[in-house]
Amino acid sequence: MRGEGCIFCKIANGEIPSNTLYEDEGYRVILDLGPATKGHALILPKEHYANLYELPDENCAEVLKLAKKMAVRMKEKLGCTGMNLVQNNGESAGQTVHHFHMHLIPRYDDGSRIVSWTPGEPSAEELARIRDTICG
Ligand code: 5GP
Ligand code: ZN
Repeated sequence: MRGEGCIFCKIANGEIPSNTLYEDEGYRVILDLGPATKGHALILPKEHYANLYELPDENCAEVLKLAKKMAVRMKEKLGCTGMNLVQNNGESAGQTVHHFHMHLIPRYDDGSRIVSWTPGEPSAEELARIRDTICG
């Protein structure tokens, strides 16, 4: 399955060149063109799935295993001291390329906190209501 005109399909399948860190039958890992930090990489399945909702279960497991493999390698080779895995689904979540991808963002002891939010202060009742909405 290929996404018509999808840039990540073209990159993943080698039609558009990229700085490839890893490749196998099902995946390509590339350097992000607009990196958050040194070594920011993207795991791309070669098949086109728009987002996590479309990604088959077996690919979910493979992606996380590959993320671990790359994270171990980056820690060793880049000397990063932390690693954020970021995966956006839908425009409201910041997804701009609608071909599933997992961001690997190496972190360094430079004090920056790129992936962050201001914690809310929900009441216990509010949390319980949300739990019931999701689980009900
Ligand atoms: P999203 O916001 O969809 O989660 O992330 C898309 C990411 O893809 C961004 O970090 C952006 O810099 C990266 N990107 C977009 N187009 C290209 C491209 O043509 N090549 C590479 N290597 N990265 C890209
Ligand atoms: Zn695609």
